[in-house]
Amino acid sequence: MVDLQSQYKKIKNEVNAGIQDVIDSTSFIKGGKVVDFQRNLETYLNVKHVIPVGNGTDALQIALMALGLQPGDEVITPTFTFIATAEVVALLGLTPVVVDVDFDTFNISIDSLRKAITPKTKAIVPVHLFGQNADMEEILAIAKEHNLFVVEDACQSIGSVYTFKDGHREQSGCMGDIGCTSFFPSKNLGCFGDGGAIFTNNDELAAKMRAISNHGMVVRYYHDFVGINSRLDSIQAAVLDVKLKHLDTYSKNRQTAADFYNTAFAENENIITPKISANSTHVFHQYTLKLQNVNRAELIKFLADKDIPAMIYYPVPLHLQKAYQDARYKAGDFPIAEKLCGCVMSLPMHTELTEEQLLYITKSVLEFI
Ligand SMILES: *Cc1c(COP(=O)(O)O)cnc(C)c1O
Repeated sequence: MVDLQSQYKKIKNEVNAGIQDVIDSTSFIKGGKVVDFQRNLETYLNVKHVIPVGNGTDALQIALMALGLQPGDEVITPTFTFIATAEVVALLGLTPVVVDVDFDTFNISIDSLRKAITPKTKAIVPVHLFGQNADMEEILAIAKEHNLFVVEDACQSIGSVYTFKDGHREQSGCMGDIGCTSFFPSKNLGCFGDGGAIFTNNDELAAKMRAISNHGMVVRYYHDFVGINSRLDSIQAAVLDVKLKHLDTYSKNRQTAADFYNTAFAENENIITPKISANSTHVFHQYTLKLQNVNRAELIKFLADKDIPAMIYYPVPLHLQKAYQDARYKAGDFPIAEKLCGCVMSLPMHTELTEEQLLYITKSVLEFI
């Protein structure tokens, strides 16, 4: 699904030198490399504060911890996403409220979102799934109307750009009160272990989240908040600082691969290719097809026999996950997400796909269908 080895080979000297610098400095935690990367990412995103943390899940947790929410407060998330989005809501004793998604974009449905708002709703966590921004103009308007926080889950969408109706453009994760991303190795900007970051333009929230990520400490050994230990280490920052310079090229390579797939599948009525929204670029964390009248399991097996990986992101929506069973929800409540779980299939998508590989993959898919 990804080819981190070929990607590494192209930047090996630079990355190895960066890692060696950290080892020579022995400044492993909160070292200069972390600050360098933080500054460079702030510039890239055009955001006031980047707070590097241990991983994307922690980023989401710290964001929610900083909002001063009370047990029982409701946080709305789409039901079609990776589990981490709702996991942190549940862990903090908040109430996850799930809503349906849009069939075309896989992102949070604005209608479903509106219907889910109650007097207890305090925050919305839209997920920019597969690398394309959710409809932030509408989400921000709803949040403003109901006085809600917006925490963007931008774990799959770093580098994607959203254009508002007035023409101004913002980077994914930098539109709501807080944005969260992950640097898990297979993410669009991935390190060599776990890593993540929080984005905000709000000085007060930034100071609080920085403290929470470091045991709630503002002055050393004086703890103003209940915090956690979640820091990006310097070796990961050294890797990320090199890869950040290539992020736009990486996104372009993904888009080129997506174009190839789109063209190959355009005429086939059993395959629905990803829809690109008018107001967002797509950085294709995943390239996800919707299959119609195709035996998906057989297709995946057919591809596997030809050494082509294909994955189902995601097979089960949040409201039907065992750990999240809840009297409020049952099968059939979110028909679009449930339908998507039954028909999506993601093909290999990364920065190193060659035309030869793409041709082999598309021919094989079409051969089966
Ligand atoms: C990867 C991911 C996360 C979690 O990030 P980790 O760094 O693995 O903790 C959260 N949300 C979404 C949508 C993700 O894809």
